[in-house]
Amino acid sequence: MKAFGVAWDAWRTTHGGAGAVAARQPPRLQALVAHARTHSGFYAEHYRGVPDGPVSLAALPSLPAVSKAELMARFDEWVTDPRLTRTGVSAFVADPANIGRDLFGEYVVFTTSGSTAEPALLIQDRRAMAVMFGLTYARSAGVLPPGLLLRVLGRGARQAAVFATGGHFVSTVMFERRLRAHPVRRRYSRFFSVLDPLPELVANLNEFQPVLLGTYASALSVLIGEQEAGRLNIHPLVISSGGELLLPSVRQRAREVFGCTVTETYNASEATPLSLPCRVGNLHLNTDWYLVEPIDASGEVVPAGQRSDSLLLTNLANYVQPLIRYEMGDSVVIGADPCPCGSPLPTVTPEGRTDELLKLPAREGGEVVLIPMAIATVVEETPGVLRYQILQTAPAGLTIRFDEDASSDRSTVWTEVNRRLTGFIAAQGAGPVTIELADQRPEVNSRNGKLRHVVRAIRR
Ligand SMILES: [Zn+2]
Repeated sequence: MKAFGVAWDAWRTTHGGAGAVAARQPPRLQALVAHARTHSGFYAEHYRGVPDGPVSLAALPSLPAVSKAELMARFDEWVTDPRLTRTGVSAFVADPANIGRDLFGEYVVFTTSGSTAEPALLIQDRRAMAVMFGLTYARSAGVLPPGLLLRVLGRGARQAAVFATGGHFVSTVMFERRLRAHPVRRRYSRFFSVLDPLPELVANLNEFQPVLLGTYASALSVLIGEQEAGRLNIHPLVISSGGELLLPSVRQRAREVFGCTVTETYNASEATPLSLPCRVGNLHLNTDWYLVEPIDASGEVVPAGQRSDSLLLTNLANYVQPLIRYEMGDSVVIGADPCPCGSPLPTVTPEGRTDELLKLPAREGGEVVLIPMAIATVVEETPGVLRYQILQTAPAGLTIRFDEDASSDRSTVWTEVNRRLTGFIAAQGAGPVTIELADQRPEVNSRNGKLRHVVRAIRR
């Protein structure tokens, strides 16, 4: 399967109405389930009690759900290519030089970042990649008005991606893959790390003058403040926010302060692009390839128009690491009404958690703002950290809660977390900060099972 074929099929599906979507789901589901039962030792055992034969869409809820923890614990049995082992893939992602390289020249590997409690190793086969590109080609064209596209091209289409570095995150890996395939793009596509000190990031963006800017919602909040203060002086035509919930107020402020179009993405490392925006500005789920079941805390399906506590995802595209009724934890509202754009694909409104901006006293007076995704990445990427929370408990005081993995020593991990955080905070220009280890372990939100990673626990 090639991306062009997927794109053509996706275009026909979007223009074929609800019937066209419904016609594509059952054969894809049956093929995936049959493949998983035959080639994944985990699913063969997990579906022992499920009768053989094709699974209809109506029978999907009869398949037992799966969790990330359970799949990761049995990684080697879960994947359908025996060359892939948890040890081998972990070693591959441990080397930053592999970012943008394909494992065995065939598989694209993602690791999850800040929005999930425990990191996962996610492997995309050629088929999944074709679907990723095909859906994006077919359903992104026409979102921006043609006049705007011409202005973007007229101004050189310089593209800045402002995301976390240091891991095989979807945004990082895909950006680096494109540059490796087309080195000429390095001239007008640049990656900026949210982990850099803010003044440096601001100076680099001022110099580069992006026409297109992609970043996290929380980093966007910080950049809005910098532009308002006059330190940042950029004039993008389109800003795309993803990876975190974009609050309508932040979106509105970004529109006003930068005077540009602001689009939102809602994605999952497990299924990209899970949704894409339409010309009306709504997000549509790509349900011809990614089946989504919104559920409440007891696992019952939540009707359209109501907020879910979690989501079960079935990725119909990826055969190497089957995800069938996989608990995502995301809280969303699936639209009950058709979208004015005419797409038969359901709309979705993410209701995800939002991390908070932390402000610390600067060494030279004033305040330093820490981008939540940046400080979160510093802790998350420390070897041995399984789950964590960063709380600001005093104007110049942080408290860290974390769980270490079974093979790590708690005090060794803590020493390293403390060292990395101290270095990161100093590099941001903050004055002395007290960093303490909490007795308490990270607290998961009981409603949606998600961790809020960066919390401002003081009010000034
Ligand atoms: Zn729409």
